[in-house]
Amino acid sequence: MSSIDALALAQALIRRPSVTPKDAGALDVLEAVLKQLGFTTHRLPFGDIDNLYARLGDAAPHFCFAGHTDVVPVGEGWKTDPFAAEVKDGLLYGRGAADMKSAIAAFVAAAARIGTPKGSISLLITGDEEGAAVNGTVKLLEWLKARSEKIDHCVVGEPTSVGHAGDTLKIGRRGSINFKVVVSGVQGHVGYPQKAKNPIPVLAELVTQLAAHKLDKGNDHFDPSTLAFTTLDVGNDATNVIPGEARAAFNIRFNDKHTPESLINWVNDRVTQIAPRSGCTTQITSKTSGVAFLTAPGKFTQLVSDTVAGITGQAPFFSTSGGTSDARFIKNICPVVELGLAGGTMHKADECVPVAEIAALTDIYAALLAAYFAKPPI
Ligand SMILES: [Zn+2]
Repeated sequence: MSSIDALALAQALIRRPSVTPKDAGALDVLEAVLKQLGFTTHRLPFGDIDNLYARLGDAAPHFCFAGHTDVVPVGEGWKTDPFAAEVKDGLLYGRGAADMKSAIAAFVAAAARIGTPKGSISLLITGDEEGAAVNGTVKLLEWLKARSEKIDHCVVGEPTSVGHAGDTLKIGRRGSINFKVVVSGVQGHVGYPQKAKNPIPVLAELVTQLAAHKLDKGNDHFDPSTLAFTTLDVGNDATNVIPGEARAAFNIRFNDKHTPESLINWVNDRVTQIAPRSGCTTQITSKTSGVAFLTAPGKFTQLVSDTVAGITGQAPFFSTSGGTSDARFIKNICPVVELGLAGGTMHKADECVPVAEIAALTDIYAALLAAYFAKPPI
């Protein structure tokens, strides 16, 4: 059994400036360590994105750890070198320290502790999570399917905890959909409104109706869905002209009571009730960035929860809040939860994590693997 120093591996990963879509050698570092541990590795470049799939063992049950080595751009205001991976006062600094190179390192160290599993352990690592997420997890999952490789359970190592590693377990996420509305009327002189068709009152009524509507009351696992307008534009500086067009945009964060289709139908329905009376026409476009999903609490979530409690003394809080992650794709093939470090500094200047938290997360992942293979939740 080899031993891997999670901190040293996290530092080596942070020192590769893998800002999406660049890999900058980060996957080479990871692949080399996994090969040394006996994993069979596959580099899977799609488009301009490099990805890595590594598996140890070929039997069931198959436990997969999913994550990403790409990081968001540095931005401004750092007091430390974002790619030096310095440790100061017990904190590891660097872009990717929290999101999520340290979690990958913790998982590799945990897998090294377990040695040969009674089943399989794999890592599904993309370089495209912070970007378009087109040439990463989605394509990797298609590749796995084509090879008839079946994953039984998956943990995504995103920094979803709040204060300490393992205090929160993401068991689902809300979906997100963006809408744009354009109301077209007929431009005209303010003195002769009867000769124009003013789109502004139509759009105002639509905004009022949509914004006032309660989409749902939430349920046991999800907060109520929300709708928020992000802009309302006419762009008309003239005081004597009724404009010909008015635009608005809004976002809906939705729980598992809705689908993109049901929301699109609802919006279209509202619009068709309002617009025709005015003589104006409307155009609605939408873009879905994620559907809502839930890994219903059961054997797997219980195993993860009990394991975390055994290490930290506290069962994690089950949450479905926050933005989207690649778990939205993985949920289509197996139960998936997100368990990682606290994410307070992710995407910020001076991103950092306590070194002690990396050690704690390594202990959690190692205990989880041990418990999983001792009594698979199948
Ligand atoms: Zn991330």
